[in-house]
Amino acid sequence: MSGSVTGLAAARRIVVKVGSALLVDEAAGDPHHAWLAAFAADAARIRERGQQLLIVSSGAIALGRRRLGLGRRKLDLPGKQAAAAAGQSQLMHAWENALAPHGIIAAQVLLTRDDTEVRHRWLNARATVETLLGFGCAPIVNENDTVVTEEIRYGDNDRLAARVAQMIGADLLVLLSDIDGLYTADPRRDPAARHIPLVSELTPEIDAMAGGSNADAGVGTGGMATKLAAAKIAAAAGCATMITLGSRPSPLGAVEEGALCTLFTPSTTPAAAYKAWIAGSLAPQGVLTVDAGAGAALRAGKSLLPAGVRSVEGRFEKGDAVIVRDLDGHEIGRGLARYDASDAAKIAGVKSGDIEKALGFTAGPTLIHADDLALAR
Ligand code: GLU
Repeated sequence: MSGSVTGLAAARRIVVKVGSALLVDEAAGDPHHAWLAAFAADAARIRERGQQLLIVSSGAIALGRRRLGLGRRKLDLPGKQAAAAAGQSQLMHAWENALAPHGIIAAQVLLTRDDTEVRHRWLNARATVETLLGFGCAPIVNENDTVVTEEIRYGDNDRLAARVAQMIGADLLVLLSDIDGLYTADPRRDPAARHIPLVSELTPEIDAMAGGSNADAGVGTGGMATKLAAAKIAAAAGCATMITLGSRPSPLGAVEEGALCTLFTPSTTPAAAYKAWIAGSLAPQGVLTVDAGAGAALRAGKSLLPAGVRSVEGRFEKGDAVIVRDLDGHEIGRGLARYDASDAAKIAGVKSGDIEKALGFTAGPTLIHADDLALAR
């Protein structure tokens, strides 16, 4: 295992998924204000340590259902969409009230599956989330249930949370569950079931353990199988996953004090996984040839500025992968372009401060940001 064990204290950027069952007070039919207040105190403490926190919150449909008086009846798609619309505003209100005493601004981010899977869209969503984190906000993410249709929706926030973790290069995904981790069998049915604290490889044996162990969850949609699917997405992105019991008052604080959880450790880091993906999985759509100064800067870990670009070939869109070559034709690396081919050609050789003059707009000073560049070995 080459990745480090990223627990709650060591993580730099944490995504916490909070399910409907935790957020909805069944008896009152309201958001679970006491639980939220305790969670917010934990969130504030984590942020004070300098760690970034993003919350993926379910609960829109469950709250909206109660708000609209729909009881427990099965809802068709328009019914779910309407419930989500009525519930999402109540959900955000509850988060705002919980976080405000700690001086934290809750910022609503509603995503569809395309926003996490189509490259130019997730680059856009990533930029927004990064900006929100820069402003010190707590992004509260949910699926945009009001506009998604059955075929294109995630339907469960476990996988959405894993995609979000991947998108923003988080190093820890926490899935708050109705069970304190993974067991060898369902502990509610099998007294011999053993808790598994650490999983360093997601094998078929581990998959087999997920069967039924979360089957009683009443309000949410995810079971242990979707949690393992989420852990796989996260692991491939270099992000650790922690599954722990969410229903106690301060689940994150409880883990810090030694409560049980299962930690899935990845074998790579988020940055390495991201760069391997850029270098190996994307078909390059163009070539940028750069001068010696830019080549040296790139090899030293800097971004590619348009001033150092001598020529632009190919037809690429913003967000597509392109090859960067030196004047001798040697590949320096591959990266994601922040301008499309026609704009890149217009700003080749132009100083970053003059981009706006050349194009009439600017998408930032770099043509390829260092974070989005994988250097050739
Ligand atoms: N997006 C759904 C909601 O907010 C929840 C999906 C899930 O339970 O995982 O109601």
